[in-house]
Amino acid sequence: MARMPGTAWIGPTPNQRAGGMSEYRGLVLHIQDGTEDGSEAWFKNPESQASAHFLNPKTGGLRQLVDTADRAWTQGAGNAYWISVENEGRGGDALTPSQIENCARLLAWIHRTYGAPLQLTDDPNGAGLGWHGMGGAAWGGHYDCPGKAVLAQRGQILARAQQIINPTTPVQEDDMPLTPADLDAVEARVWGHTETNPDTGQPVYMSAIMAWTDHRHNVLYGQLAGLSAAVKTLAGLVGQGIDTAAVVTAVEQAIAAAVVNVHVDVTGATNPTAPKGA
Ligand SMILES: [Zn+2]
Repeated sequence: MARMPGTAWIGPTPNQRAGGMSEYRGLVLHIQDGTEDGSEAWFKNPESQASAHFLNPKTGGLRQLVDTADRAWTQGAGNAYWISVENEGRGGDALTPSQIENCARLLAWIHRTYGAPLQLTDDPNGAGLGWHGMGGAAWGGHYDCPGKAVLAQRGQILARAQQIINPTTPVQEDDMPLTPADLDAVEARVWGHTETNPDTGQPVYMSAIMAWTDHRHNVLYGQLAGLSAAVKTLAGLVGQGIDTAAVVTAVEQAIAAAVVNVHVDVTGATNPTAPKGA
């Protein structure tokens, strides 16, 4: 017998098989497509032949209808292997923050109690946090349960469960769009940021470092252009039977022309010191 601490016990229901669990692979998410009260009444009605281990209302704590030692009638051929939670809401609804927290606590409890892994799964023969539709026809063909909006929240549920198990695990925050003022502040911080030149002990601004890096890039591009011209020239001389001095001269001329063509100043590679604007 197992009832999750902190949940409200609302059983029993006749719609279950006592001691009917073969394995505990993890948690399967469902959407009630109805209200909490209506679903509870339906799951207690012998006519429905349906139930779930847990019900998760839009507000408030988890409610347990079937002991996890017993088999709930929720997802067909998966009933003997998975613990189930029916979330209050209509098909297409997203879970409320309270429902996400409840699902995370339930997943963490299943991990602690039964050793189910903290991971997402789309495989009815896998383990972790699954969903009704993944079982296909064998699970009743409920492909839209719990719906895309809830599926998109599985990562949040998993991350929160991992944090409950290991409180040092950071929870990934939702992406927040940056405002123009945010971007201005970042730009000012980057361009005004200083490092100390180890040779001179003087402050070096990011703008100067960027300019110096640009300069070094141009030098490298020039050297690459020279090498390319040399290779091309050598290839053109193959088999012409000219002497070594003529080959060297031709290659040197090709390199000089290429470097001039990319307008590289190969003499001005100075260390950065001064800020550039901003
Ligand atoms: Zn379902």
